[in-house]
Amino acid sequence: MRYISTRGGGEPLSYSEALLEGLARDGGLAVPAELPHVDGETLERWRALTYPQLATEVLALFATDIPRDDLARMTAAAYESFPSEVVPLRPIGDGLTLVGLSEGPTLAFKDMAMQFLGQVLEYALERSGAVLNVLGATSGDTGSAAEHALRGKDRISVFMLSPLGRMSPFQRAQMFSLDDANVHNIAIAGVFDDCQNLVKQLAGDLEFKRAQSLGAVNSINLARITAQVVYYFWAWLRATDATGGAEVSFTVPSGNFGNILSGFYAKRMGLPVRRLVLATNENNVLDEFFRTGVYRPRAAAETLATSSPSMDISKASNLERFAFELFDRDPARVSAAWRELDEQGFFDVTGDQPRFAEEFGLVSGTSTHDDRIETIRSVHAGSGDIIDPHTADGVKVAREHVEDGVPMLVLETAKPEKFAETIHEALGVQLEYPAELHAMLAAPQHVTEMADDAQQLRAFIEAAALRGDTMGDITTGAARHDS
Ligand SMILES: *Cc1c(COP(=O)(O)O)cnc(C)c1O
Repeated sequence: MRYISTRGGGEPLSYSEALLEGLARDGGLAVPAELPHVDGETLERWRALTYPQLATEVLALFATDIPRDDLARMTAAAYESFPSEVVPLRPIGDGLTLVGLSEGPTLAFKDMAMQFLGQVLEYALERSGAVLNVLGATSGDTGSAAEHALRGKDRISVFMLSPLGRMSPFQRAQMFSLDDANVHNIAIAGVFDDCQNLVKQLAGDLEFKRAQSLGAVNSINLARITAQVVYYFWAWLRATDATGGAEVSFTVPSGNFGNILSGFYAKRMGLPVRRLVLATNENNVLDEFFRTGVYRPRAAAETLATSSPSMDISKASNLERFAFELFDRDPARVSAAWRELDEQGFFDVTGDQPRFAEEFGLVSGTSTHDDRIETIRSVHAGSGDIIDPHTADGVKVAREHVEDGVPMLVLETAKPEKFAETIHEALGVQLEYPAELHAMLAAPQHVTEMADDAQQLRAFIEAAALRGDTMGDITTGAARHDS
């Protein structure tokens, strides 16, 4: 399998090359030259597999340059710390079932992909003899998932910027309690956008970037997208174990369009998916796009801080990969749309809008703070389950799209313990942390505080970065928003 750019430039790459590259050299995103197809017989054969075994089968379709035994070893290691079923399903009534994607070390769905990425990055670096210094900015979830996936790796170090004093105590503890020598937490005196700008400045200096072997692991990373495809297959298999191969629908709490893009790929690979329901919070740029056909990213200042913070996005980095399919894989049309976006701040495909639902099964909806609170309450009253605010956005929008006889699977993207304040507001209960979380919250913290100053950050990285062969020109995609 080769990977091409959505903008049509550059040479096709292997999986290992594309996963190290981030943004394609022409500014586009790497996509499979053609999506693999999975037939009904193969699907039935996959029913007997464990999650890591299924991951090996699905990822082998994409990572054709990696021997299957190596893939099997990596998927086993990636999901080792998860409960035995890795992704449990729980019905909550009214035709809805939660798909538990938050059983990993940081209690959010990003672990699903990041844990595999940690394995495959180290593997690709070993094969090429290179090292990678990951530079990122986080407002919480991505940074902690990345650090937990990359800690202790020989050929990788992590420099993670976060806004000083602006993360929750839980998020701080998740990142700063790590004492691995290859993890560098840097708290910047500023807001998330300041952190993001520092990353852009340093990664935009190509000479510095090459000299320091800088790279990124953000949500446009190809390995993350492909690792996420696996759980759509898993959830479909488990939801239809009793009934056989019927269609199901999925609802996905969405931000950067990474998670749901993987579901979109699974459907196009032949998985019997009826609807992919995209749920946004008040930052509903994607709901607007799927309802109207007009994509209009917002300015950072127009982006609201909500009680489902991991979905607070102003633009959706992965949407370009959907546009590539919408435009019948014509890179000239993708380039034209993104040029319009740059020039006038939006692009308009209203003529194609009916195809979103008809051809691709994509529909959408918005959920607000009041909806989240009400949904956390009603789910708790109905089934006794406590769901986190992001999952609540999903359940709220899922209810508007349930169809008779079609199971509706809602992706649970975080555990409620991560967002205890909102749970308290909804249910009046203070969630009890398990013992290992208490230990994490009480552990000594490792963080370097720094002014919002690119010069200081450069010096810090120069002193602490891993040295080795550089990988040549790794374009990181750091210019794209990812929290
Ligand atoms: C990152 C995140 C999302 C959004 O996922 P995308 O892939 O960016 O659409 C939703 N919920 C939680 C809890 C997250 O951490």
